[in-house]
Amino acid sequence: MIAFDNHPALVLNADFRPLSYFPLSLWSWQDAIRAVVSDRVNVVSEYDRHVHSPRFSMRLPSVISLKDYVPCARRPAFTRFNVFLRDRFSCQYCGLGFPTHDLTFDHVVPRSRGGSTTWGNVVTACSPCNLRKGSRLPREAGMTLLDRPQPPSTYELQENGRAFPPNYLHRSWRDFLYWDSELEPF
Ligand SMILES: [Zn+2]
Repeated sequence: MIAFDNHPALVLNADFRPLSYFPLSLWSWQDAIRAVVSDRVNVVSEYDRHVHSPRFSMRLPSVISLKDYVPCARRPAFTRFNVFLRDRFSCQYCGLGFPTHDLTFDHVVPRSRGGSTTWGNVVTACSPCNLRKGSRLPREAGMTLLDRPQPPSTYELQENGRAFPPNYLHRSWRDFLYWDSELEPF
C-alpha cells in the first residue's frame, strides 16, 4: 500500500450528518477502507487518488456514511446537503429534479428584505427559477412554492436519503457541515 496520510474520510451517520462535530468525525484512509471492505459504510464521495494492493484497487473515500444509524436525539443539522435532501433534490418552484451541481438555494423572503438563512426560509431551486424570482417574494414573481419549508425530522431525511443512491451526491465536506452563510453567497 502507498501512504496517503493526508486523505482522511469524513464520517457521516446513516442520516448523512457528521457523527460528531467537535471534534469533526474523521477516519484515517486505512480505517475508512477497512470499513468499506467490511461493508459497514457507503462511500458517498471519493478522492482522485487510488490505493492499490495485490488484491484490489480503489479510490480513497473522502466521505463515508454508516449503514447502521447511530441514534442521537438532536434535530437534523441545517446543512446545504440536508436542504437538498429535504427537498428531494428538486426545485421547489417548478418541481423538476436536478443533479446537485445544477441546483441552487433560494431565500423565500430575500435576504435583502430581512429573510433569514434557516430551514423555514431556504429552499432548493433550479437556476432558471432562482433567476426568475430574483429578489422578490414568490407571489410578487407569480411563483408558488410546492411545500411550505420547515425543519425536517431525522426520519424524514433518512426516508428521502433512501431514494437517492449515495453517488448522486457531491464531493465537498463543507456540504455536510453546519451552514455558514458567510462562506458563500447564494
Ligand atoms: Zn425550477
